[in-house]
Amino acid sequence: MSDREPFFTEQHDMFRAMVRQFVETELAPHAEEWEEAELFPREVFKKAGDAGLLGINYDEAYGGTGLDYWYTVIRTEEYVRSRCAGVNMALLVQSDMATPIIHDLGTEEQKQEFLVPAIKGDKIAALGVSEPGAGSDVVSLRTTARRDGGDYVINGSKTFITNGTRADFITLIVKTDPDKTHQGVSVVLVPGDAPGLTVGRKLKKLGNKASDTAELHFDNVRIPQRYLVGEEGHGFYYLMHNFQGERLVAAIGAVAGAQQLIEDALKYGEQRQAFGKPIIKFQTWRHEFAQHLTEVEAARRLAYFAADLFGRKVPCVREVSMAKLFCAELANKVADRCLQFHGGWGYMDEYTVSRAWRDARLVTIGGGTSEVMREIISKLSF
Ligand SMILES: Cc1cc2nc3c(=O)[nH]c(=O)nc-3n(C[C@H](O)[C@H](O)[C@H](O)COP(=O)(O)OP(=O)(O)OC[C@H]3O[C@@H](n4cnc5c(N)ncnc54)[C@H](O)[C@@H]3O)c2cc1C
Repeated sequence: MSDREPFFTEQHDMFRAMVRQFVETELAPHAEEWEEAELFPREVFKKAGDAGLLGINYDEAYGGTGLDYWYTVIRTEEYVRSRCAGVNMALLVQSDMATPIIHDLGTEEQKQEFLVPAIKGDKIAALGVSEPGAGSDVVSLRTTARRDGGDYVINGSKTFITNGTRADFITLIVKTDPDKTHQGVSVVLVPGDAPGLTVGRKLKKLGNKASDTAELHFDNVRIPQRYLVGEEGHGFYYLMHNFQGERLVAAIGAVAGAQQLIEDALKYGEQRQAFGKPIIKFQTWRHEFAQHLTEVEAARRLAYFAADLFGRKVPCVREVSMAKLFCAELANKVADRCLQFHGGWGYMDEYTVSRAWRDARLVTIGGGTSEVMREIISKLSF
């Protein structure tokens, strides 16, 4: 255990070294190629599964490693070394967004059919919440699942679904009772090859290009009622809990990304000369980077505070929302200023800063916008 980071033991440090090795050998060398192709190979899920990165906090009985939440923090921090936010996001959707509900609430049969292969990386998972007409306002979603005999029949559309073009299953948020608001929402599992499920457009986007983002259409898609997760009508509450893990990894990744951007920029600033000296010698920049480093440290402490509460299962919606808000906004500010520090080269694709700047833009939007975070914090504070 380090004097400076009391949360991390020697075992945590060894795990960090293992993840770093994985990221530096299996992900980072392919970042350019995958960004260019706007997709990465399916086998990456398998490799991450083999490395034990897709079920860190999950029961060993289902192939997880049953470790504490600090291992999730470490893995999320180390992912940023791939410099490929798209692949990082796709892997995080698999492990920390689409599957926690199944682990926590699924039946034994659901766990064997969906969770176990997702942890191994044999099946790709997606989380289907957002719709063309409902994102922040989840309760307004219009995709329905109506009981019919022993089945549910699903109709509607989802959009912005990460891993959506090739998901083997979707953890899908539906209205089982369209006349109700929160109490009408449920969670079901839909196999990717279910008849009537079609992938619409693969959406073109600003950043995170290596991940696929899809529209999904459900036209009388029939699934057995045993694919309902937890209780019917309780889905909204399950989802709100699920969002905490999603927002926390977003916050942790944002801080680690900002730290990496600063380190890269400082190296650039040693080499780049202007007016006869390295640009990092200009006091205006020295002070600005001192400020960024201070704010990144403050952001990390807030994220670690939320992670500590989350890991100990202490209620922490307010703290997670604060961490998501603060870390995501800071990551954007740092990315913007690091790009500025590179001058014209920052605007070119020669350095990774332009890609990081585009990728960072997602963090204040995905998994709950900054405005929604402020709304939650205010509701829980006054
Ligand atoms: C690359 C990418 C990947 C994604 N992956 C997934 C995925 O895998 N699964 C999934 O389900 N979704 C996914 N999303 C969707 C994402 O979670 C939503 O975009 C996000 O929740 C915002 O919803 P929206 O886009 O509908 O915006 P809207 O809800 O329409 O918001 C528009 C604007 O209004 C503001 N606003 C809304 N409500 C309020 C309020 N109460 N107070 C103040 N302002 C408000 C918002 O902050 C925003 O600025 C992804 C999005 C992107 C861009």
